[in-house]
Order: sequence, then structure tokens, then C-alpha cells
Amino acid sequence: MPTDYYEALGVDRSASTEDIKKAYRKKARRLHPDVNQADDAEEQFKILGRAYEVLSDPQKRQSYDTTGDPNGRPAGFGGAGGGFGGFGDIFETFFGGGSAGPASRTRRGQDSLIRVRIDLRDAVFGVTKEVEVETAVTCTVCNGSCMRPGTSPTTCPDCHGAGQTQRPMRSILGTVIQTQTCPRCSGFGNIIEDPCQECDGQGRARERKTLKVKVPAGVDRGNRIHLAGEGEAGIAGGPAGDLFIEIDIRPHSVFTRRGNDLHATVNVPMTAAALGTHINLDTFDGEESLEVRPGTQSGEVLTLRGKGVTHLRGTGRGDLKVHLKVETPSRLSDKQKELLRMLAEERGEKPGESSTEHKGMFAKLREAWESV
Ligand SMILES: [Zn+2]
Ligand SMILES: [Zn+2]
Repeated sequence: MPTDYYEALGVDRSASTEDIKKAYRKKARRLHPDVNQADDAEEQFKILGRAYEVLSDPQKRQSYDTTGDPNGRPAGFGGAGGGFGGFGDIFETFFGGGSAGPASRTRRGQDSLIRVRIDLRDAVFGVTKEVEVETAVTCTVCNGSCMRPGTSPTTCPDCHGAGQTQRPMRSILGTVIQTQTCPRCSGFGNIIEDPCQECDGQGRARERKTLKVKVPAGVDRGNRIHLAGEGEAGIAGGPAGDLFIEIDIRPHSVFTRRGNDLHATVNVPMTAAALGTHINLDTFDGEESLEVRPGTQSGEVLTLRGKGVTHLRGTGRGDLKVHLKVETPSRLSDKQKELLRMLAEERGEKPGESSTEHKGMFAKLREAWESV
């Protein structure tokens, strides 16, 4: 029985992919176990399939030529599997039906996504949050096996453990066997007669669990934290899915965030803006004293460097920008009106008069507001 793939296909080592395809079709027709009654026909047919699978794929063919690996894998390939490699796929392509061998009950658990709302302060400095998730966990009674402890599954009487049943079908290659998933065992090859009572044979149970999640400083709305293996437990002992935590940030009454900068607006009475003053502002870093210079105009911005949000990647922090809004007094008493009139007179300002300088200032102001 030839084990060299070129020999199995009966082609030259320099054969083109087209030649390989032709040779395969010709030989497959002759060697198919349904038409060939020879004892080793089935075995030879399998080898032929493997040979075709490897040699028809330029990458696998190259690996086979250099390493001789029967699955056409590159040298040092450490992956699981082996044996027939992708033979099931080629079998399926040519003859329909499922892949070779019984299916595994094992499946990876689903990924979960939950939203967590944090305070802006926690986004600035980072926080460790306790997060409650309702998820599927491995059943502790059957350990995920789905069976009542102490029992084992019985081999499926219909497919004798193969997971597939076969029926003859006419095709261009003559009568071929069509493989289909065994309906009795759903392709698993065995039947669990005595399922675990605790989880109803699911191997998993729903549970609320609490996780401690480290939220890094600098996270923003919509960022996701990836926790590998913290999603739903796998089915029948399969690996767990991942958990993604999507961050939402509660609006703050004083500070708004733009990128890594924080912005706040502080109202300054007109007189204080004219005369100059100090104002105290509660920031995330404690109380800060801000100097309002005499003659401060509405819309001026004071920048506190490094008092913004921590950079998510890298070091340092954004700035805190304080927008000053000069308040023009309203609801004046007669005395206040008189004082303002005296001030205007003293300054030589007449009612209804404006200067281009003022217009310029308003335009600048608008610009300042539109840019924030
Ligand atoms: Zn169970
Ligand atoms: Zn079966």
C-alpha cells in the first residue's frame, strides 16, 4: 500500500494542481469502496483523499515536500488534532454529509457583555469595582459531564458510536455513500441515559457571581475591558467564554470631559471680574485656588495643567480648563443703578454706545465658546 502521496495519486512530483485534481477524480472513481470490492479499497481510498487534500493545497504541498508531514503542516507545528487533518472537509465537498467521527459534546461557553457605570472621578483615577454577573457556571454535581455521577453514556445502537449513519446514493461517481448525522444520538455517538438531575443534563447552571474588576484610570465611555475565561462556562466541560465589561460614565454636575481634559464653568460677578479676586474650586485633586485677574473678560479660560483625566496608555494627565463666565448684574436697586451710572460717567461711557473693540471681544467670546 503506497503511503507516498504522489505515489498514491500516481502523479509525478512536478505535477500541476490541475494534474493532481484529474488524477484524484480518476482514481477516486475506481477506488471508491462502493464500487471496489477489494479488502483494502476503503483504506486506499482514505489515503487517496489525504493525498489529494495535502497536494491540492500549495502551502500544505510545500510543507509535505520539505518535512514529509502527513498533514502538510509546517515544521514545528504544535497544534492539536493530527490524524486525518482536514480530510473530513474534502470528503464533505465530494460526497456531502458530515465530517468523520462522532461529534464532541464539548463546546466553548458564550462571551458575555455587561455595562458598568462609574463616576467621572473613577475614570480619572481608576477604580476596582465589584460587578455582579448572572452567568452559566459548570454544574458542581456532575462537573459539567451532564451525566448523573457514577453513570456513563451508552454507545448509540444506531450508529455504533460513529455519530453518523450512511446510505447509498447515486451520483456521477456511481453509487456513493451519503453520510448524515445520526438522528438518534445527534452525532455524539453515545447517549446519556441517566442525565444529571441537578442541571437537567445541561452540565451547567445559572448563577449570580460577583467579580472584582480593575477599571484602569483613563477609561472612557464605550471602552471595553476584556476578562478572558470569565464568560459563560463551556458546555460539557468545554472552555469558558470571555466576559467584556463596557464602561459608561455618570455625568458630573461640575465637570465635563473632552478627551483627557476636564472642563468646568465658573460664574464670576462683574465687579469681581473687574477688580480681580480669588475663587476656590473643588476639584478631584482637592480644593484649588484660582486667580481671577483684574479686568477678566467673560469666556476667559484658566488652565490647571495635569489636573485632568489620566492617560489610559502612557503617563501623565490631561488639563483642567476653567471657563470664567462674567455675570452682569440684573434686578438692580435704585442705589445700585445710581452707582453704576456714576461709574459710567466717571469712565466717560454713554448709554447706547459701543466700540469696535467690544464687537471684537464678542466675536472672540463666541469663538471661545464654540471651540469648547
Ligand atoms: Zn449536572
Ligand atoms: Zn447514533
